Amino acid sequence: MSLRTIETLGDLADKVILLRCDLNVPLDGGRITDDGRVRASVPTIRRLREAGASVVVMSHLGRPDGAPDPTFSLAPVAVRLEELLGEPVAFAPQRVGDGVTLLENLRFDPREASKDARERESYAAELAALGDVFVSDGFGVVHRKQASVYELAKAVPSAAGLLIATELDVLDRLTARPAKPYAVVLGGSKVSDKLGVIDALLPKVDRLLIGGGMLFTFLAAQGHKIGKSLLEDSQFETVKRYVAEAAERGVELVLPTDIVMASGFSADAEHVVARAEALEETPFGADGIGLDIGPETAAAFAAHIRSSHTVLWIGPMGVFEFPAFAEGTRAVAQALSEVDGLGVVGGGDSAAAVRALGFADEQFGHISTGGGASLEFLEGKTLPGLEVLGWQQT
Ligand code: ADP
Ligand code: MG
Repeated sequence: MSLRTIETLGDLADKVILLRCDLNVPLDGGRITDDGRVRASVPTIRRLREAGASVVVMSHLGRPDGAPDPTFSLAPVAVRLEELLGEPVAFAPQRVGDGVTLLENLRFDPREASKDARERESYAAELAALGDVFVSDGFGVVHRKQASVYELAKAVPSAAGLLIATELDVLDRLTARPAKPYAVVLGGSKVSDKLGVIDALLPKVDRLLIGGGMLFTFLAAQGHKIGKSLLEDSQFETVKRYVAEAAERGVELVLPTDIVMASGFSADAEHVVARAEALEETPFGADGIGLDIGPETAAAFAAHIRSSHTVLWIGPMGVFEFPAFAEGTRAVAQALSEVDGLGVVGGGDSAAAVRALGFADEQFGHISTGGGASLEFLEGKTLPGLEVLGWQQT
Protein backbone atom coordinates (compact mmCIF):
# COMPACT_ATOMS: atom_id res chain seq x y z
CA MET A 1 0.00 0.00 0.00
CA SER A 2 1.18 3.48 -0.70
CA LEU A 3 0.43 6.80 0.92
CA ARG A 4 -3.26 7.72 0.79
CA THR A 5 -3.60 11.15 -0.82
CA ILE A 6 -6.38 13.72 -0.42
CA GLU A 7 -8.04 12.43 -3.62
CA THR A 8 -8.81 9.11 -1.91
CA LEU A 9 -11.15 10.96 0.47
CA GLY A 10 -13.67 11.59 -2.33
CA ASP A 11 -15.87 14.67 -2.67
CA LEU A 12 -14.97 17.13 0.07
CA ALA A 13 -17.64 19.75 -0.66
CA ASP A 14 -19.30 20.83 2.59
CA LYS A 15 -17.24 18.37 4.58
CA VAL A 16 -15.44 19.41 7.76
CA ILE A 17 -11.79 18.47 7.48
CA LEU A 18 -9.63 17.93 10.53
CA LEU A 19 -6.18 18.99 9.42
CA ARG A 20 -3.06 18.24 11.49
CA CYS A 21 -0.34 20.72 10.65
CA ASP A 22 3.03 21.31 12.26
CA LEU A 23 2.78 24.97 13.26
CA ASN A 24 5.45 24.57 15.90
CA VAL A 25 7.29 27.78 15.08
CA PRO A 26 10.04 29.45 17.11
CA LEU A 27 8.67 32.35 19.16
CA ASP A 28 10.44 35.27 20.76
CA GLY A 29 7.90 36.53 23.27
CA GLY A 30 4.78 36.59 21.08
CA ARG A 31 6.70 37.17 17.86
CA ILE A 32 7.24 34.40 15.30
CA THR A 33 10.94 34.40 14.38
CA ASP A 34 10.63 31.89 11.50
CA ASP A 35 7.22 31.37 9.90
CA GLY A 36 8.43 28.67 7.49
CA ARG A 37 6.17 25.99 8.93
CA VAL A 38 3.11 28.24 8.73
CA ARG A 39 3.86 29.00 5.08
CA ALA A 40 4.44 25.33 4.35
CA SER A 41 0.95 24.55 5.67
CA VAL A 42 -0.87 26.97 3.38
CA PRO A 43 -1.08 24.95 0.11
CA THR A 44 -3.03 22.09 1.69
CA ILE A 45 -5.44 24.44 3.47
CA ARG A 46 -6.04 26.27 0.18
CA ARG A 47 -6.60 23.00 -1.67
CA LEU A 48 -9.17 21.88 0.89
CA ARG A 49 -10.94 25.25 0.82
CA GLU A 50 -11.07 25.15 -2.99
CA ALA A 51 -12.70 21.74 -2.72
CA GLY A 52 -15.49 23.40 -0.74
CA ALA A 53 -14.55 22.07 2.69
CA SER A 54 -14.30 23.88 5.99
CA VAL A 55 -11.06 23.23 7.81
CA VAL A 56 -10.27 22.72 11.48
CA VAL A 57 -6.51 23.18 11.79
CA MET A 58 -4.71 21.50 14.70
CA SER A 59 -1.13 21.71 15.90
CA HIS A 60 1.12 21.60 18.91
CA LEU A 61 3.58 24.32 19.89
CA GLY A 62 6.61 23.72 22.07
CA ARG A 63 6.50 21.46 25.09
CA PRO A 64 3.89 22.68 27.55
CA ASP A 65 3.38 20.45 30.53
CA GLY A 66 0.07 18.95 29.41
CA ALA A 67 -1.80 21.99 30.73
CA PRO A 68 -2.73 25.41 29.30
CA ASP A 69 0.23 27.79 29.35
CA PRO A 70 0.01 31.18 27.62
CA THR A 71 3.70 31.03 26.65
CA PHE A 72 2.82 28.21 24.26
CA SER A 73 -0.42 29.60 22.86
CA LEU A 74 -0.99 29.29 19.10
CA ALA A 75 -2.68 32.72 19.11
CA PRO A 76 0.21 34.47 17.25
CA VAL A 77 0.14 31.67 14.70
CA ALA A 78 -3.59 32.23 14.04
CA VAL A 79 -2.79 35.84 13.14
CA ARG A 80 0.04 34.86 10.79
CA LEU A 81 -1.97 32.08 9.18
CA GLU A 82 -4.80 34.51 8.46
CA GLU A 83 -2.35 36.92 6.75
CA LEU A 84 -0.84 34.17 4.64
CA LEU A 85 -4.14 32.56 3.68
CA GLY A 86 -5.86 35.84 2.93
CA GLU A 87 -9.04 34.68 4.62
CA PRO A 88 -10.28 34.83 8.21
CA VAL A 89 -8.97 32.26 10.66
CA ALA A 90 -11.04 31.78 13.80
CA PHE A 91 -9.05 30.81 16.88
CA ALA A 92 -11.43 28.72 18.97
CA PRO A 93 -11.87 25.36 20.74
CA GLN A 94 -14.14 24.08 17.97
CA ARG A 95 -15.25 24.89 14.44
CA VAL A 96 -16.57 28.40 13.89
CA GLY A 97 -18.69 28.85 10.73
CA ASP A 98 -17.72 27.31 7.38
CA GLY A 99 -14.22 28.72 7.03
CA VAL A 100 -10.94 28.01 8.71
CA THR A 101 -10.62 27.48 12.46
CA LEU A 102 -7.39 26.95 14.38
CA LEU A 103 -7.61 25.04 17.64
CA GLU A 104 -5.41 25.93 20.62
CA ASN A 105 -2.19 23.96 21.26
CA LEU A 106 -3.06 20.26 21.36
CA ARG A 107 -0.40 19.60 23.99
CA PHE A 108 -2.37 21.62 26.50
CA ASP A 109 -4.15 18.28 26.94
CA PRO A 110 -1.91 15.64 28.56
CA ARG A 111 -3.56 12.88 26.49
CA GLU A 112 -2.11 14.19 23.20
CA ALA A 113 1.39 12.93 23.96
CA SER A 114 0.49 10.36 26.60
CA LYS A 115 2.40 7.07 26.72
CA ASP A 116 -0.89 5.34 27.41
CA ALA A 117 -2.60 4.34 24.14
CA ARG A 118 -6.05 4.43 25.75
CA GLU A 119 -5.59 8.03 26.81
CA ARG A 120 -4.49 8.97 23.32
CA GLU A 121 -7.47 7.12 21.86
CA SER A 122 -9.85 9.00 24.11
CA TYR A 123 -8.39 12.35 23.02
CA ALA A 124 -8.45 11.28 19.37
CA ALA A 125 -12.14 10.39 19.73
CA GLU A 126 -12.87 13.90 21.01
CA LEU A 127 -10.96 15.46 18.14
CA ALA A 128 -12.67 13.13 15.66
CA ALA A 129 -16.05 14.43 16.80
CA LEU A 130 -15.08 17.92 15.56
CA GLY A 131 -15.07 16.92 11.88
CA ASP A 132 -15.77 14.34 9.18
CA VAL A 133 -12.39 13.29 7.79
CA PHE A 134 -8.73 13.69 8.77
CA VAL A 135 -5.88 15.06 6.69
CA SER A 136 -2.45 14.61 8.21
CA ASP A 137 0.06 17.20 7.03
CA GLY A 138 2.33 17.85 10.00
CA PHE A 139 5.44 16.25 8.57
CA GLY A 140 7.52 17.37 11.56
CA VAL A 141 5.52 15.08 13.87
CA VAL A 142 5.00 11.91 11.81
CA HIS A 143 7.71 10.14 13.81
CA ARG A 144 5.60 10.56 16.94
CA LYS A 145 2.86 8.20 18.06
CA GLN A 146 0.57 10.93 19.35
CA ALA A 147 -3.21 11.24 19.45
CA SER A 148 -3.56 13.82 16.65
CA VAL A 149 -0.96 12.09 14.48
CA TYR A 150 -1.65 8.39 14.91
CA GLU A 151 -4.85 7.52 16.76
CA LEU A 152 -6.92 10.18 14.99
CA ALA A 153 -5.87 8.78 11.61
CA LYS A 154 -7.39 5.46 12.65
CA ALA A 155 -10.57 6.98 14.08
CA VAL A 156 -11.89 8.57 10.87
CA PRO A 157 -11.18 8.29 7.10
CA SER A 158 -7.70 9.77 6.70
CA ALA A 159 -5.11 10.78 4.13
CA ALA A 160 -1.85 12.68 3.79
CA GLY A 161 -1.77 16.34 2.80
CA LEU A 162 0.38 18.01 0.16
CA LEU A 163 3.27 18.90 2.47
CA ILE A 164 3.79 15.31 3.57
CA ALA A 165 3.64 14.20 -0.07
CA THR A 166 6.27 16.80 -1.03
CA GLU A 167 8.58 15.97 1.88
CA LEU A 168 8.41 12.27 1.04
CA ASP A 169 9.09 12.92 -2.60
CA VAL A 170 12.26 14.84 -1.72
CA LEU A 171 13.39 12.22 0.81
CA ASP A 172 12.83 9.57 -1.81
CA ARG A 173 15.04 11.47 -4.26
CA LEU A 174 17.72 11.68 -1.56
CA THR A 175 17.64 7.97 -0.76
CA ALA A 176 16.47 6.03 -3.82
CA ARG A 177 18.43 7.12 -6.89
CA PRO A 178 20.20 10.38 -6.10
CA ALA A 179 21.88 12.08 -9.06
CA LYS A 180 25.66 11.84 -8.62
CA PRO A 181 27.91 13.26 -7.35
CA TYR A 182 25.95 13.19 -4.10
CA ALA A 183 27.26 15.32 -1.22
CA VAL A 184 26.02 15.41 2.35
CA VAL A 185 27.04 18.37 4.49
CA LEU A 186 26.70 17.89 8.23
CA GLY A 187 27.07 20.43 11.00
CA GLY A 188 25.09 21.56 14.00
CA SER A 189 26.01 20.95 17.55
CA LYS A 190 26.60 17.27 18.20
CA VAL A 191 27.95 14.19 16.44
CA SER A 192 25.65 12.05 18.54
CA ASP A 193 22.57 13.72 16.98
CA LYS A 194 23.65 12.70 13.52
CA LEU A 195 25.17 9.23 13.99
CA GLY A 196 22.13 7.50 12.50
CA VAL A 197 22.23 9.65 9.38
CA ILE A 198 25.95 9.12 8.88
CA ASP A 199 25.47 5.35 9.22
CA ALA A 200 22.60 5.35 6.76
CA LEU A 201 24.11 7.71 4.19
CA LEU A 202 27.78 6.67 4.11
CA PRO A 203 26.98 3.84 1.67
CA LYS A 204 25.12 6.23 -0.63
CA VAL A 205 27.14 9.42 -0.82
CA ASP A 206 30.23 10.43 -2.77
CA ARG A 207 31.25 13.26 -0.44
CA LEU A 208 30.73 13.87 3.25
CA LEU A 209 31.55 17.36 4.51
CA ILE A 210 31.82 17.92 8.25
CA GLY A 211 31.40 21.35 9.86
CA GLY A 212 29.65 22.81 12.91
CA GLY A 213 30.30 21.80 16.48
CA MET A 214 30.71 18.14 15.51
CA LEU A 215 33.83 18.81 13.48
CA PHE A 216 35.90 19.17 16.65
CA THR A 217 35.26 15.60 17.71
CA PHE A 218 36.64 14.55 14.30
CA LEU A 219 39.71 16.77 14.69
CA ALA A 220 40.28 15.60 18.27
CA ALA A 221 39.98 11.97 17.20
CA GLN A 222 42.80 12.66 14.75
CA GLY A 223 44.95 13.87 17.62
CA HIS A 224 44.51 17.61 17.20
CA LYS A 225 44.12 19.92 20.17
CA ILE A 226 40.87 21.87 20.01
CA GLY A 227 40.93 24.22 23.02
CA LYS A 228 37.51 24.63 24.59
CA SER A 229 35.60 23.80 21.40
CA LEU A 230 32.63 21.46 21.57
CA LEU A 231 33.82 17.91 22.17
CA GLU A 232 32.17 14.52 22.60
CA ASP A 233 35.02 12.27 23.55
CA SER A 234 32.58 9.37 24.00
CA GLN A 235 32.28 9.43 20.19
CA PHE A 236 35.99 9.04 19.37
CA GLU A 237 35.75 5.39 18.39
CA THR A 238 32.64 5.98 16.31
CA VAL A 239 34.24 8.88 14.52
CA LYS A 240 37.38 6.84 13.80
CA ARG A 241 35.17 4.10 12.39
CA TYR A 242 33.51 6.66 10.07
CA VAL A 243 36.89 7.85 8.85
CA ALA A 244 37.92 4.25 8.11
CA GLU A 245 34.60 3.35 6.53
CA ALA A 246 34.65 6.42 4.30
CA ALA A 247 38.12 5.47 3.08
CA GLU A 248 37.01 1.87 2.44
CA ARG A 249 33.99 2.95 0.47
CA GLY A 250 35.82 5.59 -1.51
CA VAL A 251 33.74 8.36 0.07
CA GLU A 252 35.54 11.68 0.11
CA LEU A 253 35.46 12.80 3.74
CA VAL A 254 36.11 16.53 3.78
CA LEU A 255 37.21 18.00 7.11
CA PRO A 256 37.96 21.69 7.75
CA THR A 257 41.50 22.96 7.23
CA ASP A 258 40.93 26.24 9.04
CA ILE A 259 38.67 27.38 11.88
CA VAL A 260 37.49 30.67 13.35
CA MET A 261 38.72 30.52 16.97
CA ALA A 262 37.14 32.88 19.51
CA SER A 263 38.12 34.13 22.95
CA GLY A 264 34.79 32.90 24.34
CA PHE A 265 31.24 31.92 23.49
CA SER A 266 29.67 35.31 22.83
CA ALA A 267 28.59 37.53 19.96
CA ASP A 268 31.33 40.06 20.56
CA ALA A 269 34.16 37.63 21.36
CA GLU A 270 37.56 38.38 19.83
CA HIS A 271 38.39 35.94 17.04
CA VAL A 272 41.11 34.84 14.63
CA VAL A 273 41.43 32.24 11.89
CA ALA A 274 43.62 29.27 12.84
CA ARG A 275 44.88 26.20 10.96
CA ALA A 276 42.97 23.06 11.94
CA GLU A 277 46.15 21.44 13.26
CA ALA A 278 47.13 24.48 15.35
CA LEU A 279 43.92 25.55 17.06
CA GLU A 280 45.63 26.29 20.36
CA GLU A 281 48.29 28.41 18.71
CA THR A 282 46.28 31.63 18.82
CA PRO A 283 46.32 34.50 21.33
CA PHE A 284 43.65 32.55 23.23
CA GLY A 285 45.80 29.45 23.61
CA ALA A 286 43.99 26.46 25.12
CA ASP A 287 41.07 28.73 26.11
CA GLY A 288 40.09 29.38 22.51
CA ILE A 289 36.80 28.04 21.26
CA GLY A 290 35.98 27.21 17.63
CA LEU A 291 32.79 28.92 16.54
CA ASP A 292 32.88 28.66 12.73
CA ILE A 293 34.69 27.04 9.85
CA GLY A 294 37.38 29.28 8.36
CA PRO A 295 37.32 31.02 4.96
CA GLU A 296 39.53 28.43 3.23
CA THR A 297 37.25 25.63 4.43
CA ALA A 298 34.14 27.58 3.45
CA ALA A 299 35.48 28.03 -0.08
CA ALA A 300 36.41 24.34 -0.34
CA PHE A 301 32.99 23.24 0.93
CA ALA A 302 31.29 25.62 -1.50
CA ALA A 303 33.24 24.14 -4.42
CA HIS A 304 32.33 20.57 -3.40
CA ILE A 305 28.68 21.55 -3.08
CA ARG A 306 28.48 23.41 -6.38
CA SER A 307 30.04 20.52 -8.28
CA SER A 308 27.53 17.98 -6.89
CA HIS A 309 24.11 17.23 -8.40
CA THR A 310 22.44 16.14 -5.17
CA VAL A 311 23.23 17.87 -1.89
CA LEU A 312 21.69 17.40 1.54
CA TRP A 313 22.73 19.88 4.21
CA ILE A 314 21.86 19.34 7.87
CA GLY A 315 23.24 21.55 10.61
CA PRO A 316 24.79 25.05 10.60
CA MET A 317 28.57 25.32 10.02
CA GLY A 318 29.04 27.58 13.02
CA VAL A 319 27.26 29.57 15.68
CA PHE A 320 25.33 31.51 13.02
CA GLU A 321 23.20 33.18 15.73
CA PHE A 322 26.23 35.45 16.27
CA PRO A 323 26.83 37.42 13.03
CA ALA A 324 30.63 37.23 13.39
CA PHE A 325 30.40 33.42 13.18
CA ALA A 326 27.79 33.07 10.43
CA GLU A 327 30.06 33.27 7.38
CA GLY A 328 30.66 29.53 7.02
CA THR A 329 26.93 28.88 7.16
CA ARG A 330 26.33 31.68 4.66
CA ALA A 331 28.89 30.26 2.22
CA VAL A 332 27.34 26.80 2.38
CA ALA A 333 23.82 28.21 1.93
CA GLN A 334 24.96 30.31 -1.03
CA ALA A 335 26.62 27.33 -2.72
CA LEU A 336 23.57 25.16 -2.05
CA SER A 337 21.38 27.73 -3.78
CA GLU A 338 23.60 27.37 -6.86
CA VAL A 339 23.49 23.56 -7.11
CA ASP A 340 22.71 22.27 -10.57
CA GLY A 341 20.34 19.59 -9.34
CA LEU A 342 18.65 19.02 -5.99
CA GLY A 343 19.85 21.11 -3.02
CA VAL A 344 18.03 20.37 0.23
CA VAL A 345 18.17 22.19 3.55
CA GLY A 346 17.31 19.72 6.31
CA GLY A 347 17.35 20.44 10.04
CA GLY A 348 15.28 23.03 11.85
CA ASP A 349 18.17 25.28 12.81
CA SER A 350 19.62 25.16 9.33
CA ALA A 351 16.26 26.28 7.91
CA ALA A 352 16.10 29.10 10.46
CA ALA A 353 19.70 30.01 9.58
CA VAL A 354 19.14 30.43 5.85
CA ARG A 355 16.11 32.64 6.49
CA ALA A 356 17.93 34.66 9.14
CA LEU A 357 20.78 35.19 6.65
CA GLY A 358 18.35 36.64 4.14
CA PHE A 359 17.98 33.78 1.67
CA ALA A 360 14.56 33.17 0.14
CA ASP A 361 13.01 29.69 0.34
CA GLU A 362 12.73 29.63 -3.46
CA GLN A 363 16.52 29.68 -3.80
CA PHE A 364 16.68 26.08 -2.62
CA GLY A 365 15.38 22.85 -4.07
CA HIS A 366 13.63 22.21 -0.81
CA ILE A 367 13.69 23.31 2.82
CA SER A 368 12.50 20.52 5.03
CA THR A 369 9.98 21.28 7.78
CA GLY A 370 10.70 18.10 9.67
CA GLY A 371 14.11 17.92 11.36
CA GLY A 372 13.62 14.86 13.57
CA ALA A 373 11.17 13.18 11.21
CA SER A 374 13.52 13.61 8.23
CA LEU A 375 16.44 12.20 10.19
CA GLU A 376 14.44 9.15 11.26
CA PHE A 377 13.27 8.63 7.69
CA LEU A 378 16.83 8.83 6.38
CA GLU A 379 17.89 6.36 9.07
CA GLY A 380 15.33 3.94 7.63
CA LYS A 381 13.10 3.89 10.70
CA THR A 382 9.38 3.22 10.52
CA LEU A 383 7.40 6.39 11.13
CA PRO A 384 4.05 5.65 12.80
CA GLY A 385 2.38 8.79 11.45
CA LEU A 386 3.15 7.70 7.87
CA GLU A 387 2.48 4.01 8.32
CA VAL A 388 -1.03 4.82 9.53
CA LEU A 389 -1.60 6.66 6.21
CA GLY A 390 -0.70 3.58 4.19
CA TRP A 391 2.97 4.38 3.64
CA GLN A 392 5.46 1.55 3.44
CA GLN A 393 9.20 1.99 3.24
CA THR A 394 10.48 0.38 0.02
P1 ADP B 1 19.77 21.40 12.83
O1 ADP B 1 18.55 21.75 13.65
O2 ADP B 1 19.86 22.22 11.57
O3 ADP B 1 19.88 19.93 12.57
P2 ADP B 1 21.43 21.33 15.18
O4 ADP B 1 20.21 21.41 16.05
O5 ADP B 1 22.17 20.06 15.16
O6 ADP B 1 21.07 21.79 13.69
O7 ADP B 1 22.49 22.42 15.66
C1 ADP B 1 22.23 23.79 15.58
C2 ADP B 1 23.10 24.53 16.55
O8 ADP B 1 24.47 24.17 16.40
C3 ADP B 1 23.04 26.02 16.33
O9 ADP B 1 22.33 26.61 17.40
C4 ADP B 1 24.51 26.46 16.30
O10 ADP B 1 24.77 27.61 17.09
C5 ADP B 1 25.22 25.26 16.88
N1 ADP B 1 26.62 25.19 16.46
C6 ADP B 1 27.12 25.19 15.21
N2 ADP B 1 28.46 25.22 15.22
C7 ADP B 1 28.83 25.26 16.50
C8 ADP B 1 30.09 25.33 17.18
N3 ADP B 1 31.24 25.36 16.50
N4 ADP B 1 30.09 25.36 18.54
C9 ADP B 1 28.94 25.33 19.22
N5 ADP B 1 27.72 25.26 18.66
C10 ADP B 1 27.67 25.24 17.31
MG1 MG C 1 18.16 21.69 15.77
